[in-house]
Amino acid sequence: MIIIRVFAAGFRARLKARPAADSDRPVGRAGASTRPMPPGRPVRHVGATPARPAALTSPVARAAAPVLALGLALGLAGCGAPAGSGGPSGQAAGGPKVMASFYPLQWLTQRVAGDAVTVGSLTPKGAEPHDSELELSQVSALGQADLLVTLGGFQAAVDDAVRSNPPREVLDAAPLVQLEDGDPHFWLDPTRLAELAAPIAEALGRADPHGAQGYDSRAAAVAAELEDLDRELAEGLAGFQGAVLVTTHAAFRYFAGRYGLETVSVSGVDPEAEPSPARIADVAEQLADLPVKTIYFEDQASPKTAEVLAERLDLATGMLSPLENDASGDYPDAMRANLAELQSGLVAP
Ligand SMILES: [Zn+2]
Repeated sequence: MIIIRVFAAGFRARLKARPAADSDRPVGRAGASTRPMPPGRPVRHVGATPARPAALTSPVARAAAPVLALGLALGLAGCGAPAGSGGPSGQAAGGPKVMASFYPLQWLTQRVAGDAVTVGSLTPKGAEPHDSELELSQVSALGQADLLVTLGGFQAAVDDAVRSNPPREVLDAAPLVQLEDGDPHFWLDPTRLAELAAPIAEALGRADPHGAQGYDSRAAAVAAELEDLDRELAEGLAGFQGAVLVTTHAAFRYFAGRYGLETVSVSGVDPEAEPSPARIADVAEQLADLPVKTIYFEDQASPKTAEVLAERLDLATGMLSPLENDASGDYPDAMRANLAELQSGLVAP
């Protein structure tokens, strides 16, 4: 079944009268929708205070229009979950044992930790994290870890493992980044990911005080790199303010909000299911008035739905990476690949 959430009339009105201020940009946190991490006794929980300033300061953020956050509730669970083997167990001789729950957090933690520490992942290599299961060996390794960097409420299997076999410390990103409406995909806004660098450095410093200075300096370096990436993305999309980004899965809300795009998501879709002709006709009618030439699918999901819709609408398809696993390559490289896909596939208003 396809559920497309396009409110065409209101959408057109917004395109015509775009507010320049950020006053109605959603900034609320969705604490109620994230499951709290269990307070196991040996576990030290940090990250209770939001680190994000209430007002964004860059010109891009100020100019960014409110995102049409559509189809999120259904979209969050829409990825397939290929099975895989366990990842590295996150250990270094003599150094702290550090793990992260899935790729963007692993990437950032590894950059802060440096080459002397191998940061393991609780999501199997190449797998998509939404519905991933943990192997017993991973649960066992978790109990031996000094630190887990995770996003509470995103991966139920990880939350369960933390409950049953807790590491020494859990750094939960959920309270540190402003999740909106329970949407976990904050890492697609590099500035939100950057905010975790310093808390990760502090947690690593608690696990390994001798390395604290190195953690701090590497955290500052990777945060600066992410800020540079943010500027690059903003400049690359500056000509597309208000452009309509159509994805089959609703992972790009934070990205779109950061860079002034409008999102339309075809969500609640089984990637392997073929939409009925009647449904395709309905979708085609709804999208007909929108300035769109590309329907995007995710690199880890089936392109089938996007292809069927694109053929019916005589549009192209494009592939974006939601950066949910390491199959996309290095985080900045994958974000730049997304930028190139968007520059060629979006319609500038
Ligand atoms: Zn996702």
